[in-house]
Amino acid sequence: MSKQTLGFQTEVKQLLHLMIHSLYSNKEIFLRELISNASDACDKLKFEALDNDGLYENDGELRIEVSFDKDARTLTIRDNGIGMNRDEVIANIGTIARSGTRAFFEQLSGDAKKDANLIGQFGVGFYSAFIVADRVTLTTRRAGLPSSQGVRWESEGAGEYTLEDLDVPQRGTEITLHLREDAAEFADDWRLKSIVRKYSDHITLPIRMKKGPSYGENGETVISDELETVNKASALWARSKSEISEQEYREFYKHVAHDFEDPLAWSHARVEGRQEYTELLFIPKRAPFDLYDRERRHGVKLYVRRVFILEDADKLLPQYLRFVRGVIDSNDLPLNVSREILQHSKDIEAIKAGCVKKVLATLEDLAENRQDDYATFWQEFGKVLKEGVGEDFANRERIAKLCRFSSTHSDSETQNVSLADYIGRMKEGQDKIYYVTAETFAGARNSPHLEIFRKKGVEVLLLSDRVDEWFTSSLTEFEGKPLVSVAKGGLDLGQLEDEAEKKEQEQKASDFKELTERIKTSLGERVKEVRVTHRLTDSPACLVADENAMSGHLERLLKSAGQ
Ligand code: ADP
Ligand code: MG
Repeated sequence: MSKQTLGFQTEVKQLLHLMIHSLYSNKEIFLRELISNASDACDKLKFEALDNDGLYENDGELRIEVSFDKDARTLTIRDNGIGMNRDEVIANIGTIARSGTRAFFEQLSGDAKKDANLIGQFGVGFYSAFIVADRVTLTTRRAGLPSSQGVRWESEGAGEYTLEDLDVPQRGTEITLHLREDAAEFADDWRLKSIVRKYSDHITLPIRMKKGPSYGENGETVISDELETVNKASALWARSKSEISEQEYREFYKHVAHDFEDPLAWSHARVEGRQEYTELLFIPKRAPFDLYDRERRHGVKLYVRRVFILEDADKLLPQYLRFVRGVIDSNDLPLNVSREILQHSKDIEAIKAGCVKKVLATLEDLAENRQDDYATFWQEFGKVLKEGVGEDFANRERIAKLCRFSSTHSDSETQNVSLADYIGRMKEGQDKIYYVTAETFAGARNSPHLEIFRKKGVEVLLLSDRVDEWFTSSLTEFEGKPLVSVAKGGLDLGQLEDEAEKKEQEQKASDFKELTERIKTSLGERVKEVRVTHRLTDSPACLVADENAMSGHLERLLKSAGQ
């Protein structure tokens, strides 16, 4: 097929424009992104080659090479990883095949710094090449295909790109950047090597460059064609903690998580026992766009004795920890584990249980020692963590302790009240944890059911996240104190009421018996019971659900879901 010109997806065009402008102050990260992709491509080859050795084409030494030509002002990154066929080039490089594209554009603020972080989250690593290049050429051939099935992709980053068939003898991908005039500084040996060491030292494969110029015996400059490995090229997680700097952890995170921002916290441990493994797991600072998407792209990476096996979004950790990123490296699993085996493996279950404990411990540490960071975490991932109370029976109490809520204590929408805080403020004689659920925070805060509680100064949790119905139906008590909805059944305030109050209520109920019966008759089937209440102080009437019935909120949720 001869040369073909295709248009970028509209979103790609907008994104390219934005990218160039908002990341301009930190241009050098383009190299980190391209090396990160090259490394991913080698991981993918290793994975596919597990059951098809032929893919290595007698070249099993995976590597990344960086070279430049000062005069031509070009910079080239090549890898001998999986490569791409024509369709893959179109799908991966010409489109952003992700959900949440619109959400992304809606969130842009015009503030370059904030937007730069958003762009990172969205995972547009490849396009960062256009920060420094006004033309990018990518030639690639997928492992296992004949050399005649190579492809050349080229674009100036405006609205179009060209595709051409090409004979590519070596498998893998080569990307050449034609540097902009104001980015000529990157065609430089020292500069490139220091960027590689700064951002990509942790990459497990060797990143090779020509040895720099040196001085010969007579003081003459010697240019050698020999290559040297610029990075450490060892698995970061396999090194001992004391040898790893914070900066190295952060850069490693950005690579495994495809994030542009630093992580919030991490846990790194070598675990011994029935299963031997190393975990290095990170809590991101911000929720990715596909957090609620069933087709999530990323998850935790599984290695077996340093060999990348697969990246999995749901089997290595439970759903409610789906925001966690990082690696698990097992010493005991067989090299040929597949997704199918993962699902039924007792060994994986043991590793998973161990990793859950590590993540919960990391969150507990944050909650205790870095409260501002925990608040950030809760804002981004709280709704997801709450799912854990229903999902993870074994850790229910621990997860519940980590949960934060709004309450009538401050009436603020910020969720910062823990169940322990609540218990600490309980009134004398109070033996229950009270909550109200509603569709919105305002709905919860203004609920008439709260009147009596406000009057008596009893705190009530204000729950208005979608997950709260699921949460309260899973967690019926905490530290021996039942969780009780203020909107259900006959409200028994127990010792919060004195004898005189109780007497008065009974008296009123009999005084108004005639009235309540008349109301019930006229409402007929629509109500089960009409009674005099002491719940209200200002409102004349309110609806109450039966003790064992669904709450009004859940009923509405189910209705809207067509149940
Ligand atoms: P991400 O790395 O988060 O997927 P990128 O924009 O960095 O996003 O890359 C987009 C996609 O392009 C990758 O997912 C991959 O499929 C493909 N790709 C990029 N670089 C390479 C490469 N060197 N070899 C093979 N495929 C690549
Ligand atoms: Mg990438």
